[in-house]
Amino acid sequence: MQKGILYIVSTPIGNLEDITLRAIRILREVRLIAAEDTRRTRILLNAYQIDTPLTSLHDRNELKKCIHLIARLNEGMDIAYVSDAGTPGISDPGYIFVKQAISESIRVVPVPGPVAAVAALNVSGLPMGSFVFFAFLPSRHGKRRHLLESIKEETKTMVFYESPNRLVAALQDINEILGDRQIAVSRELTKIYEETLRGTVSEISESLRGKKIKGEITLVISGATTNHAGRSSDEIRAKFQEARKDPSSSTRDIIDALSEEMDMPRKEIYRQVLDFIKESSNNEAS
Ligand code: SAM
Repeated sequence: MQKGILYIVSTPIGNLEDITLRAIRILREVRLIAAEDTRRTRILLNAYQIDTPLTSLHDRNELKKCIHLIARLNEGMDIAYVSDAGTPGISDPGYIFVKQAISESIRVVPVPGPVAAVAALNVSGLPMGSFVFFAFLPSRHGKRRHLLESIKEETKTMVFYESPNRLVAALQDINEILGDRQIAVSRELTKIYEETLRGTVSEISESLRGKKIKGEITLVISGATTNHAGRSSDEIRAKFQEARKDPSSSTRDIIDALSEEMDMPRKEIYRQVLDFIKESSNNEAS
């Protein structure tokens, strides 16, 4: 008997029009749709007059349920899997189902479409030729800081999912650990209140001060500049000390010159110099 096909179907991340013609056809043609949340998927199916039966497969029953669904696929039934929004498996269930299906030699076919990470990257204004997707930033302060420490020198653009109530704390940790880099905060993409804030981490933090942040959020953070990643603060400090020997140069002039000479953002040199001046005056005072 010929086995059925498992279709992994992407669905909209907000705007119901963001679904492909092929996705609509496949969702109509399969015998069963497994969905992360059947009530949510029903809204989408109703919008396109699709009356294919639905069954639920979410992260709490994924293994048990997929064993049952794989038996159906082995009997020749075609099944589509959809998560709540966007692409299954991307911070959503789906991976176990796909893995099990492959291990049973079932054909797995993608029906591609929206991914919030890619949509946010597209409008970030940050380099998108290559990027790293980190899914959700850890919710616990310590773990989040640990992760950020471990990716300090990543030079590719970085994309994270974040919850609105942790955004302010996350931006503070990002600024302290990664530095005051360029960032884009995309909220409610493809929905009525869609917005993308772009600027340095401190500028965005300032613009959010005192505001109640709601909705779904994706963060895009610029990677460390190549020189920045490879250069230690000791090198900047040593160059600053040397340049300071010339009394005709102001601190501002030195920072400008170092920024150009080292091909590093002025803000980063300024931050290092400021830390150095503070530390030197503390040492003198003690
Ligand atoms: N599978 C989805 C995808 O392909 O993007 C992601 C699901 S994950 C459970 C949900 C998270 O994705 C949200 O908390 C938010 O960080 C991000 N997200 C989803 N929709 C979004 C939107 N419309 N605008 C911005 N971020 C969004």
